[in-house]
Amino acid sequence: MIPSLGLENKVVLVTGGNRGIGAAIVNLLVDLGSKVAYTYRSQHDSQLGTLAICADVTDKAVMEVVAKQVEDTLGPIYGIVANAGMTRDNFFPKLTTADWDAVIETNLTGVYNTLMPIIPKMYERRTGSVVCISSISGERGNLGQTNYAASKAALIGFTKSLAQEAARYEVRVNTVAPGFIETDMLNPIPDKVKQRILSEIPLSRFGKPQEVAWCVAFLLSAIASSYITGSVLRVNGGHYT
Ligand code: NDP
Repeated sequence: MIPSLGLENKVVLVTGGNRGIGAAIVNLLVDLGSKVAYTYRSQHDSQLGTLAICADVTDKAVMEVVAKQVEDTLGPIYGIVANAGMTRDNFFPKLTTADWDAVIETNLTGVYNTLMPIIPKMYERRTGSVVCISSISGERGNLGQTNYAASKAALIGFTKSLAQEAARYEVRVNTVAPGFIETDMLNPIPDKVKQRILSEIPLSRFGKPQEVAWCVAFLLSAIASSYITGSVLRVNGGHYT
């Protein structure tokens, strides 16, 4: 039996909820009794008890429509999980403008686009919890990830700043910084590099999406984390700098 985190009937929007970490978050929130809406871009298997919306987080106008559709269908949004993200890795001299822009627009501007239509309403209602998904790369950097690390480091500053603004409205803003988690995102990493990374992780394994999902649920929950805002929760098997 899963203990109650007080998320029953709370409306939560998860971006990029069709696969990987986002799908694990959606599934856990459904199990915890939340009313879950999630975005996907291309393919998705519709999950029972969820509202799935096709949307690209880089499109501000589309994300405004998403916010309205979720509130019209499920009710006032209590939680946002800004999870959608992407990599376009390359060593800096080879990094194209297109690869730079795509990663910044998705991982950073996409969070702005997701939150902007919802945050003022949370302030009015004086309740809400936002969880962004940063990365270990944003804190310690990573070879071939200047674009990705910059976007994820920026999310930490964004979180700490918005948390300070939002606190007076009883809205909390936190970030989860996963280490290396077993999803499609690890596919482009060569086996030799994966072995090197594994040798640096004290728990000697990559993380599972569900292990990130539980930390997101913890930060969404006003029962479990009511005195936590502006924080970065690292979920990385001890893989610190
Ligand atoms: P996946 O590649 O498995 O999934 C990425 C998700 O983001 C998909 O749902 C994808 O949708 C969505 N997405 C990407 N670009 C956009 C966009 N422009 N608009 C809307 N949705 C988009 O990655 P993970 O599950 O591993 O990653 C989830 C989050 O966790 C990301 O922010 C990632 O940076 C972060 N993270 C992941 C780590 C890992 O090791 N896996 C480590 C640290 C952080 P679609 O299916 O349509 O492409």
